[in-house]
Amino acid sequence: MRHRALLASLAGLVVLLVAGCGGGSTPTATAPSSPPPSAALPPEPAPSPTRTVPAKPRLRPLPVKLPAGLIRTTGTDKVALTFDDGPDPAWTPKVLDRLKAAKVTATFCVVGKQVRKHPGLLRRIVREGHQLCNHSWNHDLDLARRPVSEIRADLIRTNREIRRAVPDAKVPFYRQPGGRWTAEVVKVAKQLDMRSLHWSVDPQDWAKPTAATIEKRVKRSARPGAVVLLHDGGGNRSATLAACTKLIAGLKRDHGVARLT
Ligand SMILES: [Zn+2]
Repeated sequence: MRHRALLASLAGLVVLLVAGCGGGSTPTATAPSSPPPSAALPPEPAPSPTRTVPAKPRLRPLPVKLPAGLIRTTGTDKVALTFDDGPDPAWTPKVLDRLKAAKVTATFCVVGKQVRKHPGLLRRIVREGHQLCNHSWNHDLDLARRPVSEIRADLIRTNREIRRAVPDAKVPFYRQPGGRWTAEVVKVAKQLDMRSLHWSVDPQDWAKPTAATIEKRVKRSARPGAVVLLHDGGGNRSATLAACTKLIAGLKRDHGVARLT
């Protein structure tokens, strides 16, 4: 008897639970027909995700995929060379010498603070026919994640410094430090008449492999239209410099080298 009573109450519980679940789903299903009561309930919007995060989420998350609108190829069969993080008094003049000897032009993604220190080098870059690219004021890897007003101020400040060195300089490109792009930084760059320049070949010369490795990596992954990422600043670039002559000769022979326009 006891068992039967227990079974009966258990069955009742099951019914209640099922009804509870069904009951839970029914109001949500009919919610559109009666929005005022639920909208009027204050506890509903209470569990807001922002409340659980400490009050310093100033950086927006980095997207898992690169945003739309990035330039990654030249648009022709020829490949383009890009040099980042200068101008640097130790390496930029030597890179410029190599480019001149090879009779090719490149794109220099310059850092505003470096331009302020070495305006003469920027003038030489422009005088020798190379293209300019804004690479932020202080190589801020998180810039693209900051508030739009901060991104804009940084890019404007950098362009202003470039134009202080070369008054009518054209700066048609922006490259986000570290390639850590967001849709927001692409949009701000566009508003400032700069296209967002990524790359398709990265021999990781910043990690200081040997010159032979840099050259081999570029040769192996360069396809028609490749945009090659190299560095003329931000550290000791002796390996990049040592790789330049053979690397450029190989690219010229295999694809042709042209400046980005
Ligand atoms: Zn950089």
